[in-house]
Amino acid sequence: MTETKEAIALVAHDQRKDDLVAWAKLHADQLSQYDLYATGTTGGRLAKEAGLDLTALKSGPLGGDAQIGAMIAEGRLNNLIFFIDPLTAMPHDVDVKSLLRLAILYETKLAVNEASASAMFPLQDD
Ligand code: PGA
Repeated sequence: MTETKEAIALVAHDQRKDDLVAWAKLHADQLSQYDLYATGTTGGRLAKEAGLDLTALKSGPLGGDAQIGAMIAEGRLNNLIFFIDPLTAMPHDVDVKSLLRLAILYETKLAVNEASASAMFPLQDD
């Protein structure tokens, strides 16, 4: 019987993408145990720079956050690593809020910065 892997979605706002890529490189072995999804631009960078095999959804401002929210509502996703930029106004702020609301509602494991992501996925020697 084939086991369905648990899924993780990875998202980073533009000012946080470098940090997420650096974090993902360190945690690539752990992440590769999961089915990985990411918003478009984040996913492109994670595939290229961290070597992750993932499914890239639409870019966040074009509906990628909404796609991840839908996956959560459908019970297809229960881990979200979302490096949020707290200092920049976003055109898609309503989508960000919606995604966070659904993640909270459905008890999604949620990390919004490096410290919480590392707590969710501790390295052996952490
Ligand atoms: P992006 O989307 O990965 O396509 O930049 C992230 C976001 O801003 O939600």
